[in-house]
Amino acid sequence: EEWCESMPKVELHAHLNGSIRVSTLLELAKALNETQRDAINFSQMKHVIKKKALSLTEVFHMFDLIHNVITDHSIVTRITKEVIEDFASDNVVYLELRTTPKRNDSIGMSKRSYVDAVIEGLKSVSSVDVDFIPKTEDSRSFISDKCNGNSRKRIIVRLILSIDRRETTEAAMETVKLALEMRHFGVVGIDLSGNPKTGDWTTYLPALKFAREQGLKVTLHCGEIKNPKEIKNMLDFHPQRIGHACFFEDEHWKMMKSSKTPVEICLTSNIRTFSVPSIDVHHFAYLYEEKHPLVLCTDDTCVFTTSLSKEYKYAADSFGLGKWDMLELSRNAVEHIFADNGVKNDLRKYFNSVSKNME
Ligand code: 5GP
Repeated sequence: EEWCESMPKVELHAHLNGSIRVSTLLELAKALNETQRDAINFSQMKHVIKKKALSLTEVFHMFDLIHNVITDHSIVTRITKEVIEDFASDNVVYLELRTTPKRNDSIGMSKRSYVDAVIEGLKSVSSVDVDFIPKTEDSRSFISDKCNGNSRKRIIVRLILSIDRRETTEAAMETVKLALEMRHFGVVGIDLSGNPKTGDWTTYLPALKFAREQGLKVTLHCGEIKNPKEIKNMLDFHPQRIGHACFFEDEHWKMMKSSKTPVEICLTSNIRTFSVPSIDVHHFAYLYEEKHPLVLCTDDTCVFTTSLSKEYKYAADSFGLGKWDMLELSRNAVEHIFADNGVKNDLRKYFNSVSKNME
């Protein structure tokens, strides 16, 4: 096992349906293709998965294709279960999984029942221990278990509910209210995502403000395309984290540095979608040198054929970083998680014990 695989990692930017297991996606698409010929273009889907570079338009088309295979709640549950298993087997010890609650009247799905199906998925994982219910301080066991030589893998999972930029203000508000109702199942925050060329982010401002007032954490996809005004306004909102930060100009870097807003960096995603022209000019290098808080993430393991250990390897190889630098990066990610201080302390202790054992 390579160091990047065995090293404990923290994933903070992973979209559930973009992280569907490839074999599952193809299996579901094929089955659907056989029963409803017009529902999905199977060969097109296979073609997209194999492509090295994807335009943002192709990426968002791909998400629509993936969403088409979700024909009932049990599929949402299965996808969630497998995504957790895959992150756990890549030695992700803390995962913030984000997903857009979807309403689909034709299959009797509401935003609420969609999230229930996700939670069912968290419960149904049996190959690893999944810690998703927020606990009281005295009932924690993550570290002690690991230290006592319990060989079963353990992963802490928290959920972020996403607002899609195609949605209305009301639908976004419904998502925030749902997140509040689901806090006891580990929902910790709200994300704004979806095609950056669509909609106006101010549509979601009332919902995002409400989320913040109610104590939910907020992360925004910011600067995926050139849109200086939106980037500025988003930074003015002071989200707890932002994703991507590709099309930033001097003014934006300045704002972000003074607010110390942590950035979720998705290297493969940015390169494959041409959001950044090549890895040697990726802003990771700049932020890393400036010691600006940043976290390496996958975005969509299926769509971008990646894993968190591949992202760690990619960063190490591209920017000349060693195993210890990468462990430090992984450990620092703990400071930017949305879960409570109890979880944070737990993970800090765990990372300390890991680095001691590596010495
Ligand atoms: P889901 O929310 O259905 O679980 O995951 C897929 C959805 O996440 C997509 O439909 C899209 O709204 C969002 N998403 C995934 N990857 C990206 C990305 O790279 N950029 C943006 N803006 N949204 C994304």
